[in-house]
Amino acid sequence: MSVIPVLPIFHRLNTEYFQGSLVKEGIPRVGIRWSDGRMKATAGLYRRKSNFFGIQECEIILSKPLLSNLPAKALESTLCHEMIHAWIDLVLKVKEVHGPYFHQRMQEINSLQNNFKVTVRHSFPTPKKAPRWLATCPSCNRSFSYQRLMKGAACRSCCNSFFKGKWNKKCLLQYERILDKK
Ligand SMILES: [Zn+2]
Ligand SMILES: [Zn+2]
Repeated sequence: MSVIPVLPIFHRLNTEYFQGSLVKEGIPRVGIRWSDGRMKATAGLYRRKSNFFGIQECEIILSKPLLSNLPAKALESTLCHEMIHAWIDLVLKVKEVHGPYFHQRMQEINSLQNNFKVTVRHSFPTPKKAPRWLATCPSCNRSFSYQRLMKGAACRSCCNSFFKGKWNKKCLLQYERILDKK
């Protein structure tokens, strides 16, 4: 999986839409990094945290699993969204999430260009979860895959064909764990 360097994009967006306010003496005022492979619930986030020495640090994390397979404009709009959060926090020093300052800056940026569109929610498709269980019917030998194990589930087609649609233990599904093939 190839991951695009995000720092040049950050510097360009900072110059174009934040009047350079997110960089001080050449150094970004907010850390920017790609997530590991597990961050799948959101495309990006901005956070402030205390480091080991109790010093406040802030960073933007971009989801590697969600963004690395999408076109560049998805990365730009996500990064820009998180940069608005950083700008509100570090430059305006206002406590706000998606409030009036956020909306105003978002609309300004969207009206200035047509390459990407900043939205309030990151609405990128989240990958479907891989099935974890393989269920096999002992009667017809067909297999089905499921996200979760359902105790006592029987093969519907066999129950319909042989038992008048009533549950019967002769076609009780047998589960096997699917191991991650990654
Ligand atoms: Zn946000
Ligand atoms: Zn069956």
